[in-house]
Parts: sequence; C-alpha cells; structure tokens
Amino acid sequence: MSVYIFENTEAERVKVGTTGCNRYEVSRRLETINEMWEQTRCTCPICGAKVRLTFKDLIGQHYVSGISCQGAGNPPLERDISVAEEYLKELEDNHSQLVGAEKCSNTKRIKTLKKRIEQFRDYKQPVGEFKCRVIFKGVGEPVEKGAHEILGEYLDKKAPFGEVFSCSVETATEAVEEAISMLGVEVTKEFYDTPVSSSNLIRMHYNQPLIGEE
Ligand SMILES: [Zn+2]
Repeated sequence: MSVYIFENTEAERVKVGTTGCNRYEVSRRLETINEMWEQTRCTCPICGAKVRLTFKDLIGQHYVSGISCQGAGNPPLERDISVAEEYLKELEDNHSQLVGAEKCSNTKRIKTLKKRIEQFRDYKQPVGEFKCRVIFKGVGEPVEKGAHEILGEYLDKKAPFGEVFSCSVETATEAVEEAISMLGVEVTKEFYDTPVSSSNLIRMHYNQPLIGEE
C-alpha cells in the first residue's frame, strides 16, 4: 500500500489518500479523483435531484413521482441559478390561490427551493486538476487515518468527495510524517518538486520518457 498526496494548485486543495503501492496504481487513482472532481452529476434546478448531465452539459431527463421533471434540458444549479429563481417566483405567485394541503405543500416547496438557491448562489465550480506530489510507499490506511485527523481543521466540506483539504502540500506532508512516526513504521518517500500528471506517472512506471506539460 501507499499513501499519496495529490495537489490541485488552481483550486488550492490537496487530497490525501491511500491506494496500491506502485506508480501505475497511484496514476489510476489520480485519474479517478480527477473524474470525480469534474463532476458528471449535477443538481436539477427544479427538483434538486443529482442528475447525470447530457452531452451538452445540461440536466438529463429524470422522473419525480413518475412524472418527467421539467428541470431536464436546463443548465444545472452549479452553473446557473436563474431557472430555479424563475420557478421560485412561479411558486410564490401561485401561492395565494392555493388552499389547505396544497398551500401547505407549496410553502414547504418554496422553503426548500429558497434554501437550495442560497446554497448555490456563490457556488464555485471545481477548477483545475489534481497532480501527484508525494508517495509514501509501504504504509496504508492507519497512516492515512492519522493524517486525516491531524488535518481535520483544513477539511473542505464542500468538495464533491471526501478527504480534500485546503492546506499546502508541506502541511499535508508533515501530517503524514507525523502519523508515520506515531505508528513507527518503515516507509520510502517519493517527492516530486514538479507536480506529476497521471499519464506521466504511468510513463515513470514503465521507464518511458515523460511528456512535457505547460
Ligand atoms: Zn428535476
């Protein structure tokens, strides 16, 4: 096993995790992390469901209680809140005409939608790409867990997946090293001054020349 530190300089985030021990396995993990970071599922502006995007990056067709949701074909909330705002206005305009249980459920819908719009008002689309900075070979989950605890205060709770931290590579490295020393395990450390992409990690694994990156 190995513990890796990936860095996304544009987003100013690091990811600390564990995977198999060779560079090939680390590169596969890096690739998956970047796919998740790009987020292929986004939020419907009408019903709030997490929906796969179409090839045009719009909300795909989906159903709410068996009825096709009118949110399909619109940009996701992550990118644009205007559709949700229009829908909110519709719900509010209708409100005075409703009575009883219908009025009650409309109130609930308005409240939920308002909250959702606020949640996405200043939403920052994940930017950049993760690249590899450090691999600690020969350690696994206990070290990863220890490092996550040490880095707790930097945890990015808004990241599309877990264990993303808003700290420097140096801070993350120190946390992993502290966790290693607490457990007293043997480890080989590979540190890259320049961040390495997943395709170059594969090239390193097969001893091939690296491709240049801007
Ligand atoms: Zn929907």
